[in-house]
Amino acid sequence: MYNRENVKRIKIAIRVIGLLLIFVPTIILSIFSVQISKVKEENRNLLVQNSLLTSDKSDSQELEYGSNGRVILDVYSDMVVPWRSEPVYATKEKTIYLTFDDGPSSKTKEILDILDQYDVKATFFVTGTEDEELLPLYKEIVDRGHALGMHSYSHDYDLIYSSTEAFLADMYKIYSLIKTQTGTAPVLFRYPGGSTNDWLEGNAYQKEIINEMEARGFIYHDWNVSSGDSSYYGLEAKEIHDNVINGIGSKTRSVVLMHDRARQGETVAALPSIIEELKANGYKFDKLTTSTKPFRFE
Ligand SMILES: [Zn+2]
Repeated sequence: MYNRENVKRIKIAIRVIGLLLIFVPTIILSIFSVQISKVKEENRNLLVQNSLLTSDKSDSQELEYGSNGRVILDVYSDMVVPWRSEPVYATKEKTIYLTFDDGPSSKTKEILDILDQYDVKATFFVTGTEDEELLPLYKEIVDRGHALGMHSYSHDYDLIYSSTEAFLADMYKIYSLIKTQTGTAPVLFRYPGGSTNDWLEGNAYQKEIINEMEARGFIYHDWNVSSGDSSYYGLEAKEIHDNVINGIGSKTRSVVLMHDRARQGETVAALPSIIEELKANGYKFDKLTTSTKPFRFE
């Protein structure tokens, strides 16, 4: 009896040990594979982050962006975008992103009214002002549903592009002003003159400025269509209209550079016909967001 009982126990023990031998390695292996896929995922995100901002190869990807705390210069530590994850994509629909630089100005309200009239959302890359009448316009742009991005406080090329420190000091001013006026910190920005310009070209710190802003999590947009409305001689509405329509040509996505300044009467005059013609040609209008795959000069 005892022996049989013992044999039975030994058999059970062998079975249990056998099962453990099978299951324990399986469990350990699956824990490892989860860890490995996590590492792979992190690497993929890094790759996505590095490639997405400069190339236009994919349509939709999850992008992690924002500051990881590794800013280069130990200044303006509160001028950072919180780390986050978001899908970033290039829409396949025929889309126009109208962008108005250099405002707010005495023309901002007229531009906003036209945009409202056609139910079009746009993006304003704004500069600083101390004009009491213009200050409420930052909030009005946001309240009326448009995107608001930074375009430097002073727009003084010689000042902002004199060093990385000078650039950051100026950006901090417009960053703080937008935050105060609208209650929201901006993420998008546009370099005065674009990310490739006569002031930055050839300067050792061109990359440093771009790297610093990127490390802080800010997203810049250049443009791929210029209205030419900032030309020194001043174009007439018809020429501005033609520049935009011809510049868009057969592009699926266009970021159109226009200006919001006191002397921008011809831009205001051209705007309704530009919107009407593009709508008739099947384009939709949208504002830039943190999910819009950025347009960059190469
Ligand atoms: Zn500008």
